[in-house]
Amino acid sequence: MHPRCGRGVAGRALIGLLLAGSMVSASLAQTGVDAAPTPRAGAGSLPTMGDGSDMTTSAERRLGDRIVRELMRDPEYIDDPVLADYVDAIWQPLLKAAHLRGEMSDEMQQRFAWQIMMGRDRSVNAFALPGGYLGLHLGLIAVVTSRDELASVLAHELAHVTQRHISRLITKQNAQTPWIIGAMILGAMAASKNPDAANALLVGGQALSAQNQLNFSRDMEREADRVGFGLMADAGFAPEGFASMFDKLQAASRLNDNGAFPYLRSHPLTSARIADVQGRLPLGARHVDVLAMDHAMVSARARVLSNTAIDALRDTVAQAQAPKLAEQSAAQQAGVLYAAAWAAAHMRDFEVAKRLMARLQSITDADASAQRLARLLDIEIALVSGQSATEIVPRGRAELLLMSQLWMREGKAAQAASALQSWVALHPRDASAWQMLGRANTAQGQVLRAVRAEAEAQVALMDYAAAVDRFKAAQAMARSAATPDHIEASIIDTRTRQVQSLLREQALER
Ligand SMILES: [Zn+2]
Repeated sequence: MHPRCGRGVAGRALIGLLLAGSMVSASLAQTGVDAAPTPRAGAGSLPTMGDGSDMTTSAERRLGDRIVRELMRDPEYIDDPVLADYVDAIWQPLLKAAHLRGEMSDEMQQRFAWQIMMGRDRSVNAFALPGGYLGLHLGLIAVVTSRDELASVLAHELAHVTQRHISRLITKQNAQTPWIIGAMILGAMAASKNPDAANALLVGGQALSAQNQLNFSRDMEREADRVGFGLMADAGFAPEGFASMFDKLQAASRLNDNGAFPYLRSHPLTSARIADVQGRLPLGARHVDVLAMDHAMVSARARVLSNTAIDALRDTVAQAQAPKLAEQSAAQQAGVLYAAAWAAAHMRDFEVAKRLMARLQSITDADASAQRLARLLDIEIALVSGQSATEIVPRGRAELLLMSQLWMREGKAAQAASALQSWVALHPRDASAWQMLGRANTAQGQVLRAVRAEAEAQVALMDYAAAVDRFKAAQAMARSAATPDHIEASIIDTRTRQVQSLLREQALER
């Protein structure tokens, strides 16, 4: 398994630190958080790694899987199909550019997950995790004013991954290492308001400063800027977005808005970074700050989803009723109306939601992308209210997931199942689609297929133990069936064996 055995041992030692939150806080206590870390023997330090080079891509991926498996169980982790579609449309061209520019080797491309994990958190944050995973808080989507700005942040984080900054930190072999990895999880989990994570943030009675979350060196930051800038330009985004994102962060740091901008703490804006970015822009280049309508709506969605407290929802609806709204640009109005319609529907004020939707639809008429978002919202509201909606062709993932629910409600579960089945055949790691397929199968009385879909959803969430349980239940069901489904039964047998072997590997890592 491990070509160089020294590395394998070290990999397991690292992974051993990545158990539950309580384990993490224990390892933090051992290495010392506030004081400058001093090397010590024992559980907190690492065995040497032999040649001192980076960890392998597969070891890094396993580490990432381990962290992400925990994150996916965090109630603050959110798979919102509409936001995910929007972010993915920025992410994919960046990945492609990284590959074409040779920043991402074929091996890295295949081994890493290249998956963005969204957290419901209101704070402005994004972070690279091992193995090609990226964390992104809704607060960041809410605060950027263009796709280009969002692309600049994603490109910068992607560059940390392709330049192997994470593995370089981990390979540094100093006593800080276990702390870095622990902090990485904590940094990610600080997103959550779950009490375990909050407890983990208290080490020895002292609140842990988030400043310590995954500290890349200043050189690494500048390299991520340089590489990220190139990626974003190649991917077709306006490089000025990089500079305007910096302006935004600078303004926040002047306001000392540290609590709301964890991103600033992990990415301090040094004058060297600012000078670098300005030097890369063509002379006289200025970011033309025109708010795109679809972006305004997506931003508004991120804002309203990150704070669903009843007062916040009420405020959001009230904003759409303010007389001054008419003075704003059409894009700004679309954002306000979008959030207000969503909020009204989730307060179950369907009459108001309907009126707001009508206003939104008239304002988005001329913009195809904005119109699509309005139609998706119309379906979403129909699902909440039980009222009817205009059907749309499920071209993208957001359409598919929303339309499938609408079909199921209308007694067209077979249509939903068939669309979802084609989707998961191409996207086997899509847990939400598998879960929905399970429901569509159940609605049709296809119990065996439903249980298998639920098992696959657990595989996608990397909970192999839960997956094996369901596969075994499916096997038992297949054996006792009055009219056996031989094809399905043989798929289930194969998948059970495959996932059992994944489970064994997972157990060995512990
Ligand atoms: Zn960075």
